[in-house]
Amino acid sequence: MSVIVQKFGGTSLADTDKIKNVARAVVREKKLGNDVIVVVSAMGHTTDNLIKLAHQISEHPSDREMDMLMSTGEQVSIALLTMAIQEMGYSAVSMTGAQVGILTEETHSRARIVDIKTDKLKEHLGEGKIIIVAGFQGITAKGEITTLGRGGSDTSAVAIAAALKVDRCDIYSDVEGIYTTDPRVVPTAQKLKEISYEEMLELARVGANVLHPRSVETAKQFSVPMRLRSSFKLDDLGTLIIGVNEMEIYKPVTGLACDNSQVRVVICDVPDKPGNAGKLFTLLAKYELSVDMIIQSYARSHDNTNDIAFTISKDDLTRFCGFKDEIMKLMNPSNIHIDEDIAKVSIVGAGMIDRPGIASMMFETLARENVNIKMIATSEIKISCLVEKFNANKAVQALCKTFELDGAEAAIVKGTLPD
Ligand code: ASP
Ligand code: MG
Repeated sequence: MSVIVQKFGGTSLADTDKIKNVARAVVREKKLGNDVIVVVSAMGHTTDNLIKLAHQISEHPSDREMDMLMSTGEQVSIALLTMAIQEMGYSAVSMTGAQVGILTEETHSRARIVDIKTDKLKEHLGEGKIIIVAGFQGITAKGEITTLGRGGSDTSAVAIAAALKVDRCDIYSDVEGIYTTDPRVVPTAQKLKEISYEEMLELARVGANVLHPRSVETAKQFSVPMRLRSSFKLDDLGTLIIGVNEMEIYKPVTGLACDNSQVRVVICDVPDKPGNAGKLFTLLAKYELSVDMIIQSYARSHDNTNDIAFTISKDDLTRFCGFKDEIMKLMNPSNIHIDEDIAKVSIVGAGMIDRPGIASMMFETLARENVNIKMIATSEIKISCLVEKFNANKAVQALCKTFELDGAEAAIVKGTLPD
């Protein structure tokens, strides 16, 4: 008998009718003869609403109490879904993260899972029960309730799947799979039958906002076959996410994403001497600011200075401005320039490894469309270009043509393209 982990997100559980619909999807899997563990998120916008409540009381609520509060959302879902499954005549039991034994680090609000106990899960499965586990939450060795960061129940599901070495981990949501790009911008974007963990990670990071990146990292680390599929179209198998070695690669570029959530910071005319980049990024790390693209220019010989440019999340800009003066003092640049008019367009594909022509195809396409490139960054399987916001959609559409990412099927998928 196979063990299957199913995960359902907030939209699939937004009201009691939808919860009953999820119960049917769970029972359907059980009827196929599988053992089933279900991981759920909080209903609809519950987590956002809980956060709003907290902020009505306190501007800076403590992380411990926020975790205590936010973890209640998933607890509502597990109880209601378990009741719905029991109503259908099946034996089911709900469990919180603590009851399962999902052990995390001693950090609140974005704890990593360090271990998952499997004895209680196995015991219930042995009794033929369907288990409904609260996602997004865990417990520390000291007994404190923690959460894994927003969107973290994908990661709970994959971690449980890895701990039990299950046959499949199906992530159900309101999207039908992974698309070559955002179908709202390119209506003919195609749904992918499969994608590699590596490509999915790059796409997740560059803004294809469908899966929690840490869930894909965990799936990759433990080779968990993962599927992203729709909870409203149960016959549709969605997209399978697997190891790159298991895939047949036909095209150099698998997908394209556009991220509209970053700003570019340029530290201008930094004296070219050892230690400056180290000082700068140590300071950014001290203020817990994640940096994405980083570029240091060639040193100008007349004054022996160069520019260091990087991108940060728009949400971190206020925090960055809070310690801008410290950077001025530390590095003595002529100016710190902030550019909010940027969108990052990235092409991703395991098939671009060892194919040097792909970058030129990308840049030539943008040139043909008269789109100026402000910054470029690459990895083995990704090329990202910063462009002006108003050019982002044009760039996406043209690149889809060049790399044959548009096709017949169209559907709605979440994304972070400019409105
Ligand atoms: N309920 C949590 C959130 O909204 C976790 C999740 O949905 O995965 O972030
Ligand atoms: Mg969610």
